[in-house]
Amino acid sequence: MIKTTITGIIALLFFISCQKKEEAKPLEPLSIAPVPAVAVEQFSGQRAFDHVKALTDFGPRPPESEGYQKSLSYLEKHLHALGWKTRRSSFKSTTPVGAINFTNLLARYSPDRDPDWRASPPFIVSGHLDSKRYPDKVFLGVNDSGSSTGVMLEIARVLSENKGAALNVELVFFDGEEALLEDMVFKKDGLYGSTNYAQQLRKRNSLPSLGIVIDLVGDPKVDLLIGADSHPAAIAQTQKAVKTLKLDDAVKLAPGSILDDHVPLIVFANLPVLHLIGDFEKMPYWHKEGDTLEKISPDALENTGKLTLQILHQFTRPKN
Ligand SMILES: [Zn+2]
Repeated sequence: MIKTTITGIIALLFFISCQKKEEAKPLEPLSIAPVPAVAVEQFSGQRAFDHVKALTDFGPRPPESEGYQKSLSYLEKHLHALGWKTRRSSFKSTTPVGAINFTNLLARYSPDRDPDWRASPPFIVSGHLDSKRYPDKVFLGVNDSGSSTGVMLEIARVLSENKGAALNVELVFFDGEEALLEDMVFKKDGLYGSTNYAQQLRKRNSLPSLGIVIDLVGDPKVDLLIGADSHPAAIAQTQKAVKTLKLDDAVKLAPGSILDDHVPLIVFANLPVLHLIGDFEKMPYWHKEGDTLEKISPDALENTGKLTLQILHQFTRPKN
């Protein structure tokens, strides 16, 4: 992900507004099997942290790497044990460093049968699994973005304890979020997995109501930002959830647009999104070798996990 310049912000917002020709779906609480309040309490930051540590032990996870393959197998093993079915969505993309094979991992809770992948549940919870590729240094990408991956695995466990709630969610682990060259440039380098996913989503019989994207969520020393491109109703629900969980000191509204995996979901699938991202400008180790395990904490992961579940709880509370 990259913070866009002022010119970039204007260009990006203009681009997004030009793309949004269709009317965005209204985003209101849905009368479906709710994510119960107890689910929020069930989230364990320590369990999420343990997943991040396990992923870190596989080494760097750039596209096509051994570390990425081992990470995919790790996710599949844990998700299958919880009753989730997974699907590897592989594709080849042209990149500035040549053609690369990418693999997104999709997961749906469906213990007894194969899920209908042509239909969408109401919510997507997503984040990128790949770490930034460097030919000449060891970059583990613990916070960027092992952190979101660990949170998503723990969300999978909590939702599977509340089975009806789990049916509402598709988990998506994106490959190729990171640019192959230094900086991400929309439609040129980076966001490969989310772009392909959004394009595939358009071919389904139904679209989700909300796509949540989390990134860089493990550092307790920086704010968690609510991305400015998020749907207004999603921002409002997030701010309400922040108050409920007393996270006012830890979560802020981002001052401007931040290019990340939510942008392809908006541009190519016209999806209302919620973007939650750690304030990476305050992370001196961002995209450096110092992005290691001691930069993140179970508490910060727990804040993000509980916040995400609280938001889902609010969006699924049955109407009176
Ligand atoms: Zn990154």
